Amino acid sequence: LLDGQVVDDHRITVCVRKRPLSRKELNRKEIDVISVPRKDMLMVHEPRNKVDLTKFLENHKFRFDYAFNDTCDNAMVYKYTAKPLVKTIFEGGMATCFAYGQTGSGKTHTMGGEFNGKVQDCKNGIYAMAAKDVFVTLNGPRYRSLNLVVSASFFEIYSGKVFDLLADKQKLRVLEDGKQQVQIVGLTEKVVDSVEEVLKLIQHGNAARTSGQTSANSNSSRSHAVFQIVLRPMGSSKIHGKFSFIDLAGNERGVDTSSADRQTRMEGAEINKSLLALKECIRALGKQSSHLPFRVSKLTQVLRDSFIGEKSKTCMIAMISPGLSSCEHTLNTLRYADRVKEL
Ligand code: ADP
Ligand code: MG
Repeated sequence: LLDGQVVDDHRITVCVRKRPLSRKELNRKEIDVISVPRKDMLMVHEPRNKVDLTKFLENHKFRFDYAFNDTCDNAMVYKYTAKPLVKTIFEGGMATCFAYGQTGSGKTHTMGGEFNGKVQDCKNGIYAMAAKDVFVTLNGPRYRSLNLVVSASFFEIYSGKVFDLLADKQKLRVLEDGKQQVQIVGLTEKVVDSVEEVLKLIQHGNAARTSGQTSANSNSSRSHAVFQIVLRPMGSSKIHGKFSFIDLAGNERGVDTSSADRQTRMEGAEINKSLLALKECIRALGKQSSHLPFRVSKLTQVLRDSFIGEKSKTCMIAMISPGLSSCEHTLNTLRYADRVKEL
């Protein structure tokens, strides 16, 4: 230890969250194939057949920073994932928190807020809990003298295009200047003075995201939602720190290349491309490498400054559905998350 400094150089945290079986799944006697034997370990018990057709369970073991069992609530997940990163943005760093997983695994529930019946209560989502801690920290003794101004934005990336969730899903252009600074032209960025104001924005964005879609064919499963909290010194346009929260598109979309519908296939390919690029960018977090595939996808392009910063930190929460019918997707999710882990 240098000068008694606390060594806290864990740049990447990778966690996994198992959601409970839903009532619907219980009704159709869906089997739970996931166990969480330790707080840093998760197992998938995959039923398989031998050549002589006798059945056996293949047990897949995965280690992560944390494994959240289906009894954990959002507050618990927040405490071990995004919460420790709030400090990062006050210290002049960039933070990102990703929710990754197949459609229906709990990404939006975790980030945007728990659903009570059909109503989404944004107060108990990670966006809101982080916003609350940002204001607590802002007004606390340690950083008050920095006189930072908080602002928030909320947008969606769908089929490689950016839409403003705080401005009627207006389509926005992404520009890159000569110094590779990326800018989303005209993105609504509201200055906020209290957590209540942020909650209103989150609620507005959540509602905009799901409006005009049916659950059977939901656009939200094919788009990445990005909620950002930005800190700037008063009277300055320079960013002091930024926290980005990303509710990623369903990762099963990228695998689906069998669809007859050309549009659906193209969307799937786009999602696949962005998730692969994301993996590379996270693995290289904080390194100023020129070979990284930022430009390959809109997602990685707009998050570029959050990846390259020296003080950048990130956490990924891999969401999994517990049912046997999701087993294949669950293993894909866990293998992806496994590759993102810090070596
Ligand atoms: P995704 O955004 O990954 O497609 P959702 O967050 O919409 O998935 O979750 C799918 C369904 O499962 C929703 O009805 C949600 O309320 C429920 N759900 C997800 N995670 C949990 C959880 N941890 N506890 C209880 N219900 C959950
Ligand atoms: Mg969702």
